[in-house]
Amino acid sequence: MSKEHVIQVAFVGNPNCGKTTLFNALTGANLKVANWPGVTVEKKEGLTSYKGQKINLVDLPGIYSLTSYSIEEKVSRRCVMEDDIDVIVNVVDASSLERNLYLTMQLLELGKPVILAMNMMDVVKERGMEIDNHRLPEMLGHIPVVPVSARKRTGLNVLLHAVKHHYEEEMPETVVAYTEDIEEKISVLKERLKEKYPSLVYLRWTAVKLLENDEETIKEYNLDAPDILDRSYEKEIINQKYDYIEEIVEEVLFYKDSSKEGKTDKVDRLLTHQFWGVPVFLGIMAFVFFLTFTIGDALKGVFEIGLDALLNGSTAFLTSLHASDWVISLVVDGVIAGVGGILTFLPNIFILFLALGILEDSGYMARVAYVMDGIMGRVGLSGKAFLPMVLGFGCTVPAVMATRTLEKEADRKRTIFLTPFMSCSARLPIYVLFSSMFFEEYAAIAAFSLYVLGLVMAVILALIMGKVKKGDSAGSLLMELPEYKMPNARTIAIYVWEKVKDYLSKAGTTIFVASIVIWFILNFGIHGMVADVQESFGAVLGHWMEPLLAPAGLGLWQVGVALIAGLSAKEVVVSSMAVLFGISNINSAAGMTTMTSALGQYGFGAVNAYALMVFCLLYTPCMATVATIKKESNSWGFTLKIVLFQLVLAYGAAVLVFQAGSLLF
Ligand code: GDP
Ligand code: MG
Repeated sequence: MSKEHVIQVAFVGNPNCGKTTLFNALTGANLKVANWPGVTVEKKEGLTSYKGQKINLVDLPGIYSLTSYSIEEKVSRRCVMEDDIDVIVNVVDASSLERNLYLTMQLLELGKPVILAMNMMDVVKERGMEIDNHRLPEMLGHIPVVPVSARKRTGLNVLLHAVKHHYEEEMPETVVAYTEDIEEKISVLKERLKEKYPSLVYLRWTAVKLLENDEETIKEYNLDAPDILDRSYEKEIINQKYDYIEEIVEEVLFYKDSSKEGKTDKVDRLLTHQFWGVPVFLGIMAFVFFLTFTIGDALKGVFEIGLDALLNGSTAFLTSLHASDWVISLVVDGVIAGVGGILTFLPNIFILFLALGILEDSGYMARVAYVMDGIMGRVGLSGKAFLPMVLGFGCTVPAVMATRTLEKEADRKRTIFLTPFMSCSARLPIYVLFSSMFFEEYAAIAAFSLYVLGLVMAVILALIMGKVKKGDSAGSLLMELPEYKMPNARTIAIYVWEKVKDYLSKAGTTIFVASIVIWFILNFGIHGMVADVQESFGAVLGHWMEPLLAPAGLGLWQVGVALIAGLSAKEVVVSSMAVLFGISNINSAAGMTTMTSALGQYGFGAVNAYALMVFCLLYTPCMATVATIKKESNSWGFTLKIVLFQLVLAYGAAVLVFQAGSLLF
C-alpha cells in the first residue's frame, strides 16, 4: 500500500474499559467530535502518526457484544464491518478479562485484523495479578496482544507499532471451535453463502449469525436452508464461546496474592454503600454546586464589570465615529449585551466541568451511576441520568451537554428531554420577583413549589416514557467499576476544553443570531427604528398574543413580549417586564410596589402570577438550550418536537392553574 494511506483504526471495547482515555492519550486535542449519522451516539475521530505513518482513530461507543440490540451495537457493528476500517483495536480491561473477552471472540469471528490492547495493566499489577502474555495470543489465534495503561501512558508506542505492522495481517480462520455438529453446519452454510454472495467476506461470521437467528443478518443474507437452519443455535454458540473464555482465563491468569484487598475496595465500601452511598454523593454534589456558584459567581462579577466597560467603551467609540443610532444600538444592545450576557456564564461552566472532570477521572462518576441506578431505574432511567438532572438546577446547557456520559442513545434522548424541567438558576430571578410581589410571607414556599412542580413533571413524564419504551436500560448495572486513581491533569484539561469550546462556538453562532433577532423586534416597527417599545414589532406581536394568553391569565401584551424576550435567557423575562412597565429598579421594595400596582390595574393578581411562574418553569428554557439540544441530538426534528412539547405543556399547565385558581380564590 502506498505511503499516503492513512490506516483506519476502530477502538472497540466494553463500556469503561478505557477506550476514550487511550484515544485521548494517543490523539491529544487532535480530534473531531460529532454524532454518528442519524443517531444521538457520539462519534470521536482523531489523527495520530507513528514513524511517518498516519493513523486515524475512531472511538466507538462501549458495547458488550456485537449483536444488534442497541443503537450502540448497531453503530459499532456497522462501522467495523462496512466503513473502511483496516484494523480493529479491541481495548479490554485486563483486570477483568473474563467479561471483556466475549466481545473479543465475536470480533475474531469477523476475520478482520484485530489487535488486543490489554488496558489497565497498572491495576493488574496493583491487584497482584499476572497475565501470561505468551499463552494468551496463542489462544487467540496469534493476534498481537499489547499490554498498555492508558492512564499511565505506557505501551502506547508498542500499540501504534502493532497497528502499523499488522493492519494487513491475514487472520486465522477459526479461533473458537464449536462442537462438531455446529462446525458442520457452519461449513455447509459458508459454501452456500459463497455461492450466493460471491463478494461476501465475513463468511464465518455470517454463518454463525445465521445459526443464531440474527435478524439483521437474515434480512441481508437470505439463505433458504431449512435443513441447516432448523432452529436457533444462539444458546449453544454463546455458551461455547464462554466455555472457551473460561479455558483462556484458567490458562493465562494468575494471582500472586489473592488475599490482597486493593485500596479501591476499601474506599468503595463507603462510597457505594447501599445506605451511605446516596448521602455521600449528595454531599459531594452540594460541594460542587457550592464551588460553582461561589467561585463561579465571583468570577462572573469580574466578567460583568468587564462587559459593562466594553458596553460603555463601544458606545463611546461608536459615538466618536458618528455611527448612526441603530448601528450603536445593534452592536451594543444587540450583539455585545446578548452574546456577552451569555459569556458571563462561562466561569460557572468552567468551574463546574473542572470539578466534574476531576470526579470523572478519579473513577468516582462510574460509582454515582452505580449508586443511583436503583432509584433512577424506578422511573425507567439509567443511573447516569442523575448527573445531568442535578446539573439542570444550575444551567440546562451544561446539563444537556453532560448527557454525553450516557452511552445509550435512548437513555440520552430521554434525559435530554427531561433536564429542562429542572429549574435552572436563570429561572430563580423570576420566581423570586413574582413570589415576593404577590405571595408576601409565603414567597419562599411559592418559589420552592415550582422546583417541586418541575421535578414532579419530570418524574411523571419519565414514567410515561418508560411505559412506552421498555427494556432499554436493562443490563445497565452490568458494569465494571474502574479503579480509583489520582486524576490526570491532561485528561481533565481536554475534558474541560471540549466543553468550553462547545459553549463558545454556540455563543458565536446561534446566540449571536438570536440576540440580533430579539434586538430587532424590540427596536424596530413598521416605520423603522422606534424610540418607544410600544411601537415595535415586539409590541405588535404581544398584542396578537393577548387573546391567546388570556385563558392562562397572561393576556397583557407586555407579558407576551417578556415571554418572547425570555427565549434569549430566562432571566430576561424580569428585565423585560421592568423595561416595559418603565420601572428602573425592579428588585427594590419601591420598584416591586410600583410593579404590583401597575399589574394590579389590569387585574393581574396572585393567581396570574403563579400561572406566569408555571409557564416560565415549563416553556422552552432559552435559545442556548435549544441550540445545545440540536447540537447534541444532531436532529432538528427531535429538537423541534421538544420545543413544541414544552410550549404546549407550559400553556396547558398555565391555563389549568389560572382557571382552577380563579375558581378557588
Ligand atoms: P471508555 O468507557 O471505554 O471510554 O472508558 P474511559 O476512557 O472513559 O475510562 C473509564 C475509566 O477508567 C476512567 O475513569 C479512566 O480514567 C479509567 N482508566 C482508563 N484507562 C486506565 C488505565 O490504564 N488504568 C487505570 N487505573 N484507569 C484507567
Ligand atoms: Mg468512552
